[in-house]
Amino acid sequence: MTPMTERDLLMIPGPIELEPAVLRALAQKTTSHVDARFIAAFGRALAGLRQVAHADGAQPFIIAGSGTLAMEMAVQNLVEPGDAAVVVNTGYFSDRIAAMVERAGGVVTHVTAAPGDAPSEAEVEAALVKVKPKVLTITHVDTSTGVLAPVARLAALGKKHGALVVVDGVCSLGAEELRVTEWGVDVAFSGSQKALGAPPGLAVLTVSPAALAAHAARKRPVASMYADFHEWLPIMKAYESGAPSYFATPAVNLVAALDASLAILLAEGMTARLARHRRVAGAFRAGFTALGLTPLPARPELAAHTLSAIRYPAGVDAALVGRVRELGVTVAGGLHPALKAQYFRVGHMGSVGPADVVATVAAIGRALAAAGHKCDPGGAVAEATRALDA
Ligand SMILES: *Cc1c(COP(=O)(O)O)cnc(C)c1O
Repeated sequence: MTPMTERDLLMIPGPIELEPAVLRALAQKTTSHVDARFIAAFGRALAGLRQVAHADGAQPFIIAGSGTLAMEMAVQNLVEPGDAAVVVNTGYFSDRIAAMVERAGGVVTHVTAAPGDAPSEAEVEAALVKVKPKVLTITHVDTSTGVLAPVARLAALGKKHGALVVVDGVCSLGAEELRVTEWGVDVAFSGSQKALGAPPGLAVLTVSPAALAAHAARKRPVASMYADFHEWLPIMKAYESGAPSYFATPAVNLVAALDASLAILLAEGMTARLARHRRVAGAFRAGFTALGLTPLPARPELAAHTLSAIRYPAGVDAALVGRVRELGVTVAGGLHPALKAQYFRVGHMGSVGPADVVATVAAIGRALAAAGHKCDPGGAVAEATRALDA
């Protein structure tokens, strides 16, 4: 097998290719967590997170841990034993948040759909009416299926029926439209390593005043001290106001890297960034269609702009991922337990651009041809570039 080189292209749904400026920030000397430079970086990262999520009035949190910690914090802080939750279930990560709610003693009502599809708004509303849940959870992009949920409309339903709306934005925040305050999202959370363009290792959340009030009104304290909003709230407020404070040591280098990444993100501007992700996703779709491949999401409007989940054509199996890797591009296999072996995934987040599209479509086309699938890799690249220019 050809060894991987540092020039190989990482095209999975997180971690992603990082900007050199982000890597330089990561490699800086580790400072004290009360050093003035770190205080400034942490403060900027918190404010930047609020901006990226359009979360005016919400409290940002940045904590050492992966996206799963952010999910855990959302659940542990809002759900107490006996609380009802409605989970809009679009795949693997929706199952994960449901399992967490159950561990917290909550009672879950799933609103499900076939893998690759999303439940209808009418089905979600019917569950809200029936259950009157404390919490409605929505996976913005379920990374196991590449399905994009209509968060604005679902969150409005949640609000209408008095639920706290929790959005898993791990595979969306920074690349899909997510307007936290305007849409009535109470907790949005993510991890640093996907569309936010930083290395893995940070859990991020924005928490609305209503969610903080619900936390304050809990009957019992959160069992996990590390996950408790109460412990972190004064820390986040202090750093954003330019003063240090200590509960548990922040991931100094990772926060510096996230600060650098958010600066790049905000310099591009969210409108331009969303448009670029749409353009890139469209180009991938055109390239894959030209290769004779079909997407897993049931309808085009359900397809995420942060990753593509693509079915293997007849006669091709999961060995394709290894073949593509030998051609210098790393893509991911399937993740949804029901159809893992039937599809693969290509992540397109962060600074992804035309060169990545061309290289990836070409590598996948060549690997498919080598696996015996009849296709024209060059023609597919041409279709993808046409879509980029359209
Ligand atoms: C990746 C992902 C998670 C889990 O994040 P980790 O950083 O791997 O813990 C949760 N939800 C979604 C939608 C994801 O894509």
